[in-house]
Amino acid sequence: MNTPREISQHDERTLKIVWNDGAERLYDVVHLRRNCPCAACAEQTPAAADKIQMDDQVRPTEIRSVGRYALLIAFTDGHRTGIYSFETLRKLSGKL
Ligand SMILES: [Zn+2]
Repeated sequence: MNTPREISQHDERTLKIVWNDGAERLYDVVHLRRNCPCAACAEQTPAAADKIQMDDQVRPTEIRSVGRYALLIAFTDGHRTGIYSFETLRKLSGKL
């Protein structure tokens, strides 16, 4: 399976992940927050989703591995239930 080899802060709003197949991907942290895959976000109303859409100031506060398949990313808005599987992350890349 493709796993992150290296995760770094590319700039204030961008994470960089180097995957073990050598692919380098940049991730807009606001885009990651808006696409949070947790159950609470998946079930939220369109109005709540719009509120997230407007918050361009959100930033990660913590990134850690969850088992061998995902990263948990905590954000400055207090949200810390987003578990991004590596598969999800690969799909979310390439948006910049
Ligand atoms: Zn969420």
